[in-house]
Amino acid sequence: MSQHPDCIFCKICAGEIPCAKVYEDEHVLAFLDIAPVTKGHCLVIPKNHYTNILEINTAETPHVFNAIQKIAPAVMKSVGAKGFNIVQNNFEAAGQTVFHVHFHIVPRVLDDKVIVWHHGQYESTEAMLEVANSIHSHIKS
Ligand code: AMP
Ligand code: ZN
Repeated sequence: MSQHPDCIFCKICAGEIPCAKVYEDEHVLAFLDIAPVTKGHCLVIPKNHYTNILEINTAETPHVFNAIQKIAPAVMKSVGAKGFNIVQNNFEAAGQTVFHVHFHIVPRVLDDKVIVWHHGQYESTEAMLEVANSIHSHIKS
C-alpha cells in the first residue's frame, strides 16, 4: 500500500487510528464519517494514498466503484433511507479537508431538508455555450 505519513485516512487504513468500519477488501476501506450529515453517512476510500480524484490510479477506480455499489444499498437498508448522495470534494476550494481521496455516501429520505447545493443560472444561452466551448477546448485527449 502507498501511504502518506501525515494522512489521517492512511493511519485509519493501517489500524493506527480506530474507525467504525463497514467494509474492507484488498483495495478499499469504508467507515462511518465521524461527523455525519445523516445517520449512516460513510466514507469510501482506496487504501493507497491519492490526494484527490485527479491523482487516483484509474486501475483502482473500478474497485472503489464496485465497493460503492455494494455499500450504498446496505447503508440504505440499515438506516431506512430511500436514496443517497455520492459527494466527492477535491481541493480546499471545494471543501476538501482530508487530502486522501474519498467518496461520501450520504443516505437520504424525502424532505429531509439536507441541501446539497443551490442551483444558479447563466445570463444567456450564448454565455452558457461559451463556457461549454472553453471546457471542451481545455480537455486533454
Ligand atoms: P471532506 O470535507 O470531503 O474532505 O471530508 C472529510 C470527512 O472526513 C469529513 O466529513 C469528516 O467528518 C471526516 N473525518 C475526519 N476525520 C475522521 C475520522 N477520524 N473518522 C471518520 N471520519 C472522519
Ligand atoms: Zn492517505
